[in-house]
Parts: sequence; structure tokens; C-alpha cells
Amino acid sequence: MKISEIFYSVQGEGKLVGVPSVFVRVSGCNLRCVWCDTPYASWEPEGEELQIDKIAGRVGDFSAGHVVITGGEPMIMPEIGQLCTAIKSRGMHITMETAATVFSPVEMDLASLSPKLANSTPLEREGGRFAAAHERQRMNIAVIQQFIDHSPDFQLKFVVSGEGDLVEIHQVLGQLRGWKASDVLLMPEGIDVGTLGERGAWISEICKCEGFRFCPRLHVLLYGNRRGT
Ligand code: SF4
Repeated sequence: MKISEIFYSVQGEGKLVGVPSVFVRVSGCNLRCVWCDTPYASWEPEGEELQIDKIAGRVGDFSAGHVVITGGEPMIMPEIGQLCTAIKSRGMHITMETAATVFSPVEMDLASLSPKLANSTPLEREGGRFAAAHERQRMNIAVIQQFIDHSPDFQLKFVVSGEGDLVEIHQVLGQLRGWKASDVLLMPEGIDVGTLGERGAWISEICKCEGFRFCPRLHVLLYGNRRGT
């Protein structure tokens, strides 16, 4: 499996924000979000091919109980099931960060589902050559529902860049079953403290009205937009 980085940090997003965790970032993605903050795992994938036991061994080198498998898109990796099984055999909690466009019943504890809204479509980047494929794949309601139905726990994390995004979020939620408002997280899009603060101000007000959770990007606030954090 191609891996761009393995590092130890604190979870910056979601229900487990602040929990010390080992991050395994796979390299490669089926989407091309215009604002992707990990282009080295999507637009220009970098990394090294590692065997599953090697990845699990490196994870075990840290004294952590939580692992976050992220990307890129982990769920498109043919060996993702083997990786999850190897990590679970060490008794660790797995959060799977996924855009929820591909499902398979792999072992995990928290499915962190981040369906991509229309604000993600790269209409102009690289001449718009990825826009049609991204638009076709970015939202798959049936797959999101499979994750909700088959995961021990889940969260629905939406990346928000404009107040108009709320219309699409309600359209998506209206097609899904088995969620409650506290499973829904709204996270500002942004990779600097100023943007996160400006957007966070009005997004948190929406959360107060809707009963959704506000999702900070703690790692950006603590470390800036740097790899390995
Ligand atoms: S799904 Fe995630 S990794 Fe893939 S392009 Fe979008 S933000 Fe980047």
C-alpha cells in the first residue's frame, strides 16, 4: 500500500478531537477537491510502498491507543481490510477518515464520513480536467448509508466554505436514515487561523440553531498547516 506519512499527533477534527493518535496517511484518491489540504496524497500523490505488517509495526512503535487511517482515500486501497485487521489485532481504536464514496466491511471503530459538497468541485484548477469525474463521484448516498448501517459509530463531517452550503447539507441529510443532529459536524474550510476564525464565527451560529456540532481544525490552530501534524 502506498503510504505518504505515518506520524503521532493529536486528533484535530471530529468526535475524538484532542485524543493522541497515530496517523496513517495512504496516498491516492478518487476525488480532486479544489481545496484539498493534502495534495501530496491526492493531486500529486507521493509516498512509498509498504507491506501491511511493516505499516502495523510502525504504528505499534508509538505508545498510542488510537489510530486514524486517512488519506487520500483509504477505502479505495485493495489491502485496506488487511491493514485494519492488523491494527485491530494490536487492540487499537481505529478511526477511518473517508469521503464515503466506496464501502467495504472492514474493521473500524469510528467511521468519519466526509461527503464532499459542491464547493469541492475543481471547476478551474488544472483547466477543469478533473471536474466532471469529481462531480460524478463526490456524493454517493447509498454508500454513506452503508457506513451508517454497518459501523459501530460514525460522524458526518461536512466541510463548509459558504452559508449556501447548508442547503446541500440538508438535501443530503434528508436522504439518509439513522443519524441524529449530534452525529453531524460542520467544519470550516481553511488552512490558516484567520480563515478558520472568520468562517468559524458564523458556522458555530448555524450549529447552535441546528443542534449540529462545530468541528474545529485543532491541528491547524496548534501547528499551522504543516505535514506530519
Ligand atoms: S477526498 Fe480528501 S484527500 Fe481526496 S481530494 Fe478531497 S480532500 Fe483531498
